[in-house]
Amino acid sequence: MIEVRNLVKRYGDKKAVNNISFTVEKGEILGFLGPNGAGKSTTMNMLTGYISSTSGQILINGVDILENPIEAKSNIGYLPEIPPLYVDMTVDGYLNFMYDLKKCKLSRKAHLKEICDLCKISHVRERLIRNLSKGYKQRVGLAQALINNPPVLILDEPTVGLDPNQIIEIRTLIKKLGRNHTVILSSHILPEIQAVCDRIIIINKGVVAADGTANEIANKLTNEHKMTIRIEGTSHTASDKQEITNALKSLGGIKYVRADMEREKGIYDYDIEADEKTDVRRAVNALCREKGWNILMLQLSDMTLEDIFLKITSGDIASVQERISDEAKDAVAGMEMIFGDDKEEGEE
Ligand code: ADP
Repeated sequence: MIEVRNLVKRYGDKKAVNNISFTVEKGEILGFLGPNGAGKSTTMNMLTGYISSTSGQILINGVDILENPIEAKSNIGYLPEIPPLYVDMTVDGYLNFMYDLKKCKLSRKAHLKEICDLCKISHVRERLIRNLSKGYKQRVGLAQALINNPPVLILDEPTVGLDPNQIIEIRTLIKKLGRNHTVILSSHILPEIQAVCDRIIIINKGVVAADGTANEIANKLTNEHKMTIRIEGTSHTASDKQEITNALKSLGGIKYVRADMEREKGIYDYDIEADEKTDVRRAVNALCREKGWNILMLQLSDMTLEDIFLKITSGDIASVQERISDEAKDAVAGMEMIFGDDKEEGEE
């Protein structure tokens, strides 16, 4: 649906976007995550044909955005960070105006009604846009992007400045839209992207730092040297705790062992950290076999996306890229989407 190849944008000497490539499949919700100044808006502006690229190519539904801009743009609904609203118009007047501007051929009345119902703005159609709350203005902006039913939706920071309830509503709506549209949305807020997107591209300083599903990215960065193990000793008393802690500490490559809570009578969780790149799982297993202890649970400590984001944006990109395999980069299609329930229509 969207293909971006070796995209570059220079502002003078500065490369705001530096050789970005990615594809987005039909029906996918892609999150573009990066700190302020990473190059998200610049990329989105190129995707929508609002600015041209210095080099590289963008195909929307197979159509080159620079060679055939009108056809390519007819496939896109765009909600810029600041919604392009005429605040002296009523919602209805504005949407009709946008309908004409887009030369929409769908049945005017039915199409606008459908969009207003979807965006939950039917009850404010006669209101002046300037008198609406920020959340409602955002919905009107989204409604305008949906006119003419474009297969691709590009949403730049769609929840910036909204209150928590409005954020939940817009997120729910975006998820719903993902059923029938390919959606790209940008955000500098991690939970935002995690809540809505099937796939995440992390961009920093104009380059792609990571690309995959939220889980894939986290899995690829699993810390194999950090884990929690629940071990059952033989006596089921506190003396097991000391014996097991000491035995674990005596294994080679272990940095620290800490017995955590008592989970069942006399059974504890042990947090273990080994030297980096040292996988001690087999050694622990052998020890437990030898001592007649049972391993009831073993869990590697995942890095949260927050950790990954911090790692990437603090400049340690190379090490992260190294650890994200091509398989993660290619994993795009066929993902099942989970949709949240609609929230009740809120009052202004
Ligand atoms: P983001 O959307 O991720 O916050 P932007 O795409 O807005 O990032 O900006 C990427 C970089 O390009 C920033 O360093 C920004 O200052 C620079 N930049 C953006 N637009 C222009 C412009 N019109 N002229 C010069 N530099 C720009």
